[in-house]
Amino acid sequence: MPEMLFNGIETLKGVGPAKAEKYQKFGIKSVYELLCHFPKNYLDFHCNVTVRNAMINEYNCLKLKIKSKSKPQAVRDRLVVCKAVATDGTDDITIVMFNNVYAFQYLRTDYEYYMYGKVTENLFGKEINSPVYIHSGEKNFIQPIYKLTQGLTVNMVRADMKQALSVMKNEPFETLSESIMEKYSLCPLMWSFENIHFPDSSVSAEKARRRLAFDELLKLQLGMLIMKNRARVRTGFKMDSSIKISDFIKGLPFELTADQKKASLEIVNDLCRDTPMNRLLQGDVGSGKTAVAAIACCFSARNGIQSALMAPTEILAVQHFRTLSGFLEPFGIKVCLLTGSLKNKEKTILHEKISNGEYDVVVGTHAIIQKDVKYKSLGLVITDEQHRFGVAQRAALAEKGNTPHKLVMSATPIPRTLALIIYGDLDISVIAQLPKGRKPVKTYAVTGKMRHRAFNFVRERLAEGRQAYVVCPMIEESESELFAVKSYAENAMKCDLAGYKTELLHGKMKPAEKDRVMQDFRDGKTDVLICTTVVEVGVDVPNAAVIVIENAERFGLSQIHQLRGRVGRGQFESSCILITDNTSEECLQRMKIMSSKTDGFEISEEDLKMRGPGDFFGNAQHGLPPMKIADLSCSNEIMNMARKCAEEILTDDPILEESCHSFLKMDVIRLFDKDIIG
Ligand code: ADP
Ligand code: MG
Repeated sequence: MPEMLFNGIETLKGVGPAKAEKYQKFGIKSVYELLCHFPKNYLDFHCNVTVRNAMINEYNCLKLKIKSKSKPQAVRDRLVVCKAVATDGTDDITIVMFNNVYAFQYLRTDYEYYMYGKVTENLFGKEINSPVYIHSGEKNFIQPIYKLTQGLTVNMVRADMKQALSVMKNEPFETLSESIMEKYSLCPLMWSFENIHFPDSSVSAEKARRRLAFDELLKLQLGMLIMKNRARVRTGFKMDSSIKISDFIKGLPFELTADQKKASLEIVNDLCRDTPMNRLLQGDVGSGKTAVAAIACCFSARNGIQSALMAPTEILAVQHFRTLSGFLEPFGIKVCLLTGSLKNKEKTILHEKISNGEYDVVVGTHAIIQKDVKYKSLGLVITDEQHRFGVAQRAALAEKGNTPHKLVMSATPIPRTLALIIYGDLDISVIAQLPKGRKPVKTYAVTGKMRHRAFNFVRERLAEGRQAYVVCPMIEESESELFAVKSYAENAMKCDLAGYKTELLHGKMKPAEKDRVMQDFRDGKTDVLICTTVVEVGVDVPNAAVIVIENAERFGLSQIHQLRGRVGRGQFESSCILITDNTSEECLQRMKIMSSKTDGFEISEEDLKMRGPGDFFGNAQHGLPPMKIADLSCSNEIMNMARKCAEEILTDDPILEESCHSFLKMDVIRLFDKDIIG
């Protein structure tokens, strides 16, 4: 085990307490963690232009010899300008640096440098502004660029990084066996650390990145799979596969889709095993996950086992309660709704009835699995729309009671490979097709100039008795954005929507107030709901037939798809109008995708391709540990490799006990919350 590598960063020469504190801002405490501060980009100092033919107002890399330096000039309060004249033989150019006396004094006349910076031209000739540079004797023409913080310059980080690399070189180590490296064509670890920071070519940098990204995904997968294996304990709720529910399925008001049938079968099979189910049910908005949940509840109830269904909000809980009791009560299965707004007395009565088993299915928010709710035999826990839940929370739930079966329902379609990564600790069922006869939501993208026409269209629908959503982006949830949303709403009420009942809904409102506004909208008391993305989560108002999305460029494709899923839920033809004044190529492309595609999985693939995973998930966390290098959108190839390799490693060494895996294990523990991995 390398030791120096895990020493505090102050053990590096030139790193004192002040600098260590700056590194702390990035979570860097040890030398090893510094090495994992990977470059966010590189600067290529290979230069092929001369001062004479440098592109004006563009960034250029020039090879320059300093001819003369002027004294730094204090121009005004706190602004010091340093200037030097340099040449490459074709022409002179003035180097201009601001507030950087320290770096300036180290520039030496008669030395040659490669300088990279924006070149401008004025009356007196050409200038290169605040260039970054290397000495012409420097071997590395490709220099790393790091995320920096006040007082930490790129040169400091580069110098510290070089020292850290030499520490590592003194204690070489490798986490993967020769055979694994060969099998997946991966470069050695030491080489990769050197070449991610100081690559000799862009090809080397890419190879290094591939290896390090593989390692990170591998550790993630190892953690996930260890958790998955740990969850394979005995359940106290093994059900009887001979129990029949075909009468229930026949009694549903519709014929199940093929995917619904498949998912139901997978779930019922899980319920009949010795080990608890840990399954994700993934399906687009409106794909009919609730019916599948109802089947699971019915099967459990007939096995004498209680189920709990948890929704993220009270509104959704009420909605689920209505649907589930509609399906189940006719078959004598008792469903109750347990929410925070119940009076104490009602609550006590409900608790009593849950604990003596009078209710088979309990619907509510998170409160329903808290300590004070006692069940007679809670054997199935279903959570809806929970991709916002972290892995750690899922693991915590797994530790509860005598290991009930767990089903997580998510309406966020994500590409399959990504699902494998994020839900690596779960089995997955997918409902990919929508029930027959669903009318797709017609989607139009327009510019702000067409806003009035768009609202004409909205008013026509309102006149027909429909309702509408207008969504404004409030991504930061900041006061100023809140102000913008509020004034937008006020304005709309006065102009485009004058005479209609309009209400505002946003995330900063109190839960009770939100619920009231939502309830009024659902009851048809409000015509138009002007809202932020708080409506994103599965609210079902079948009479709403049009949704207008302002500043559509600020939403991700998947997010727009979720929003669009708020309409088209009833028998009415529905529309989605995207308003944006952004005319960038990317935005046009995205609007085109939204107007032409309706399949959530296809859209999510596109979304992931166009934006990184960070953006892909929007505000919603994916609940994974933060990644340093492995972009979740990085190639499916690496993800699949990492998954496969993790499975192979754990087959031989299920909890990473062998000494050859000690380093991997340490990093897996580092990546996850400590208690997850034993
Ligand atoms: P999800 O929770 O996946 O968004 P829901 O379960 O709320 O979807 O179902 C959406 C609507 O589709 C509900 O009104 C439901 O009754 C209906 N539905 C579900 N399955 C089918 C089916 N197989 N055929 C027709 N309609 C269905
Ligand atoms: Mg739903």
